[in-house]
Amino acid sequence: MPKKIIYLDNAATTPVDKKVLQKMLPYFSEKFGNAMSLHTMGEEAGDAVEEARENIAKILNCDVQEIFFTSGATESNNTAIKGVVKRYIQEFKGEIPHIITSAFEHHSVLDVFKSLERDKKAEVSFVAPKADGVIDVDDLKKEIKNNTILISIMYVNNEIGTIQPIKEIGDLVKEVNKKQRKSPLIFHTDAVQALNYFTCDVEYLGVDLMSLSAHKIYGPKGIGVLYKRKNLNIPPLMNGGGQERNFRPGTHSVPQIVGFGEAIKLVKKRLEKGEDKKMKEKRDYLIEKILKEIPDVYLNGSREKRSPNNIHFRFDSVEGESLLMKLDMEGIEVGTGSACSSASLQASHVLLALGLKQEQTHGSLRITLGKDTCKKDLDYFFSKLKKIVTDLRKISGNVLDEFKNK
Ligand code: PMP
Repeated sequence: MPKKIIYLDNAATTPVDKKVLQKMLPYFSEKFGNAMSLHTMGEEAGDAVEEARENIAKILNCDVQEIFFTSGATESNNTAIKGVVKRYIQEFKGEIPHIITSAFEHHSVLDVFKSLERDKKAEVSFVAPKADGVIDVDDLKKEIKNNTILISIMYVNNEIGTIQPIKEIGDLVKEVNKKQRKSPLIFHTDAVQALNYFTCDVEYLGVDLMSLSAHKIYGPKGIGVLYKRKNLNIPPLMNGGGQERNFRPGTHSVPQIVGFGEAIKLVKKRLEKGEDKKMKEKRDYLIEKILKEIPDVYLNGSREKRSPNNIHFRFDSVEGESLLMKLDMEGIEVGTGSACSSASLQASHVLLALGLKQEQTHGSLRITLGKDTCKKDLDYFFSKLKKIVTDLRKISGNVLDEFKNK
């Protein structure tokens, strides 16, 4: 077994920061109260929940009443999209709305759109990104109809790290809503991969609904947020107790909520220290090195409009999974496609959406840096990568030669 693990899969998940863990710990066994209970222990838990809500609201530049805790971004996405559609169907007595998303969303958005289409609850348009992995706002504009009630576009793509023009889409939605409409156009963004690096100021961006998850920002797994603009009334996904102002029932997971509140404070601190810029330099260092020293590799997605942590390469004549396994044996952990579907060995829907052919999607690797990734780690990763790619290509070359000689 290799001694040291070099973890380069931070888009899949991040470790809980020690400071976050310290803040969470008392809420498991000492301050274990139910945040809805009226006694002292309950109030203590309730105050901790509200403090976390305030921390998050500050970053989003919104009112605390617009923050709802969920079990994660998957639930936030489901609640937002299904809620908007259900409300319209209720209001217009069974009439079906039109909704728009991109073809390369995370499955927790994409599959909700597909299921609404399949169940004939909505007419759906999937807008393809350009070859550089960025959505063109004009392409979205062309799809908007009189009965379009929702646009859902992710802020940063989880596979290839490309940044989407969220503010421009927000401006477009505001323009559309200036005209007389049967029902306002609502803008939702899945900002899970953006929160670590980019502004999530909902006023500036012009979004009505935003989904977030703590485990991508050094917080715990199983806790998310849905930001919902105050005047937007949508039905809840679940029914139950009166928690979260009747919008999201279920006993508050106080330790996780406290963890999210602390993790988001630390994001701000890192950005104030310019850590995103330092990460970007390391990212570019590795991109340059790979492009210069390994032949037949291609960077998937725009070089400029990409998250500071994301490197996504396609290697000709190499299987992504073989690369991943060999790197793993050296103690290096990276991703291939999106973490959720990587076990399925299906071609990545993100790469197909960019226009790559099925066979071109196989040799891809996602390398996502973390706050503690250092240049030495990247150099070690590079030396192993170069050797493994060369070896694997030799093997596939030999197999091809044998095949030709038969
Ligand atoms: N959206 C995006 C863009 C993601 O990267 C993820 C996590 N892979 C999710 C949604 C789902 O988040 P969660 O794990 O909190 O359900």
